[in-house]
Amino acid sequence: MYPDVTLFIDGSWTKAASGQSIPVVNPATGERIGSVAHAERVDLDRALEAAEKGFKVWSRVSAFDRSKLMRKAANILRERADSIARLMTMEQGKPLVEAKGETLAGADVIDWFAEEARRTYGRVVPARAEGIYQLVVKEPVGPVAAFTPWNFPINQVVRKLSCALAAGCSIIVKAPEETPASPAELIRAFVDAGVPAGVINLVYGVPAEISEYLIPHPLIRKISFTGSTSVGKQLAALAGQHMKRATMELGGHAPAIVFDDADVDIASKLLAANKFRNAGQVCVSPTRMLVQEKSYDSFVEKFVTAAKAVKVGDGQETGTQMGPMANPRRITAMEGFIADAVKSGAQVRTGGNRIGNKGNFFEPTVLTNVPREARVMSEEPFGPLAIINPFSTFDEVVTEANRLPYGLAAYAYTRSAKTAHAIAAAVETGMISINHHGLALPEVPFGGVKDSGYGSEGGLEAIESYLVTKFVTQAGL
Ligand code: NAD
Repeated sequence: MYPDVTLFIDGSWTKAASGQSIPVVNPATGERIGSVAHAERVDLDRALEAAEKGFKVWSRVSAFDRSKLMRKAANILRERADSIARLMTMEQGKPLVEAKGETLAGADVIDWFAEEARRTYGRVVPARAEGIYQLVVKEPVGPVAAFTPWNFPINQVVRKLSCALAAGCSIIVKAPEETPASPAELIRAFVDAGVPAGVINLVYGVPAEISEYLIPHPLIRKISFTGSTSVGKQLAALAGQHMKRATMELGGHAPAIVFDDADVDIASKLLAANKFRNAGQVCVSPTRMLVQEKSYDSFVEKFVTAAKAVKVGDGQETGTQMGPMANPRRITAMEGFIADAVKSGAQVRTGGNRIGNKGNFFEPTVLTNVPREARVMSEEPFGPLAIINPFSTFDEVVTEANRLPYGLAAYAYTRSAKTAHAIAAAVETGMISINHHGLALPEVPFGGVKDSGYGSEGGLEAIESYLVTKFVTQAGL
């Protein structure tokens, strides 16, 4: 059964003060399955007050004890992975196996940052005079406001939450209204592990109203946002105006470059599997497959075959490989991208249509020879839509890969170590995965450059933006 999801403020699960709620819909059926509490100003004020109190408590807990509590939460999350995955599939649509994988991966993220909590080292700088100690100390930045989207309901929260807690910060999470239950279960794991009241607060509501109130608020010292570039730019500007630290994990339009010397079987298999994972609603989804001329026809044939074989259905049914898109606006977006590309001269090699009229199902779609003017060549499709275009030279493909203002992920396939080094150096992205798909592990950096944002959501870099540096110089008396 799907719950009516509440806010979590100052250690209590609570309805919104106004009693208002927002319906939650199963994207596989279009039916209402529950509701989520709709926070307003009075609830946010309570969350802010709680976060201030929580910060005072949590920042004084030793890193050793923070780490222990976090690892306990990770284990609770693991134990509950099956039931949490069912909620996630009901609200978001992804297949159960992916939902469970995301939940378990969330536990791994918590474990990684629990360990990092104990390694927020400062340093001692040699002094110019005897008896002087010059210390560089890392301190938690303060209460954090985090804004997370619906495509990975647990993963997007856990990366921000774990960093904040590891650093000693308290947090207010504005989790996605479309997929509220699974992130609430993530928070419950921390609550059941014994996190003190006020350290974690969870709200839902109208995203713009909440961000416009929390970001400028003097109690909030850092923000972290995952979502579209256009919203990210607005929030980053607001954060800048109020001198708040910000991490921005925004959109992408990943080029996937397949050179003539690549293993086309492996490249087509891995790229198709990754393209249609989570119905393409992934910021690092491979979007522009750029294939060198000699391999082009063979790659297209294999990729199209793989796309046709994807089993689309309700994520709760065994064997489903791709569920519905998370909301009806993605259907409209897909239809618009495809009609525009076809008008520009692109060919639809498979898919192109909505499936049925119940739920947000869409066919895995492959477009080939897509002209540069087509909108989908520049805008993030965020759906099960692949572009495959040919290229002839290294320089030409680098120009195309770097043409867009996005710079999140890139992929490349080649058997040549020289080409692998050269392409890794030439692409303007925060991440590149060569001959396999190895992004988004807890222990490696995750983030973009250019319009894809700044800061990292993984690796030891991630915790830095939740810490401030204090210099202490001390003379003996
Ligand atoms: P959207 O831009 O309206 O919203 C994206 C996310 O940002 C949502 O979670 C939303 O709640 C939040 N948001 C929107 N306005 C906000 C504001 N003023 N303050 C705080 N949060 C705000 O788009 P959408 O229709 O939900 O999703 C479509 C686009 O969003 C996609 O095309 C994709 O570019 C982007 N997106 C990116 C990611 C990612 O992982 N980087 C995830 C989800 C969506």
